[in-house]
Amino acid sequence: MKTFSIAIHGGAGTLVKGMMTPELEAQYKAALKGALDAGYYLLENGGTALDAVEASVKVLEDSPLFNAGKGSVFTATESHEMDASIMDGKTLNAGAVSLITGIKNPVCLARDVMEKSEHVFLAGEGAMQFAKELNYKLEDASYFYDEFRHNQWLEIKDTDSFQLDHSTKKDSKFGTVGAVACDQEGNIAAATSTGGMTNKKWGRVGDSPMIGAGNYANNKTCAISCTGSGEFFIRGVVAYDVACLMEHKGMSVKEASEEVINKRILEIGGDGGLIAVDAKGNIAMPFNTEGMYRGQKSSIGIDEVSIYG
Ligand code: ASP
Repeated sequence: MKTFSIAIHGGAGTLVKGMMTPELEAQYKAALKGALDAGYYLLENGGTALDAVEASVKVLEDSPLFNAGKGSVFTATESHEMDASIMDGKTLNAGAVSLITGIKNPVCLARDVMEKSEHVFLAGEGAMQFAKELNYKLEDASYFYDEFRHNQWLEIKDTDSFQLDHSTKKDSKFGTVGAVACDQEGNIAAATSTGGMTNKKWGRVGDSPMIGAGNYANNKTCAISCTGSGEFFIRGVVAYDVACLMEHKGMSVKEASEEVINKRILEIGGDGGLIAVDAKGNIAMPFNTEGMYRGQKSSIGIDEVSIYG
């Protein structure tokens, strides 16, 4: 049987160690493990990589600990605008949504864009209209309310600053979520979901829903989900850059991901990390920040979740 595997992340960031109590650390690890196991269970039972990444991301979106779905950060207008994307490496089909509100699991809407529309990327009102036509239930603001997030926002509201959820300035240590997987058939897929940045304005969209920037999958090379300062990840076309280094320079998934995270993105001033898998089930999870919430599990016996470097 071919090797099958899955990797997940809950955001890269500078994690202030003093703030991390053993209880909190245990909560993070349990949430990561729950997400990892949800995807792995499907792979183990012959499910597709696409189903596995969606299942893992849903679990992370339902946790208030991460900046996606339920735990999304506040925008400048005290609302939540979420972005998500998903890509199937076998067919190169992709779906993405951005600036959506009230949707419990943005990754599912992204998948519906891929499978039930003729388009790849729907944003704002149009994406909400599409969700309505598919009878999505809308959650009210209280579902997304979290006191910690609200305090994060109160500190910078009415200013021009916006803040990455894993900014080095504070102990904001939650982030975007994502999953990549390789199934028993050797097909790979990637999914990414985020609430973006605290106090973001003007319909700001990050890298997470952008195919090729924060998310990408192609059986020929790799499946990637990124986390970090979105503006830099967009300019570096990070996810596709990793795939290009593999395709055109013959690098392994590990070499290509490390080249991009430890060199190319740093050269343009970006910080963050990514998770990657190739069609043989090899996983890479580089980051250039102090830590990244992450986990990996594979049929060759790897099974771990970690936070710091
Ligand atoms: N990349 C995300 C964004 O810029 C943020 C994150 O990774 O937490 O929207």
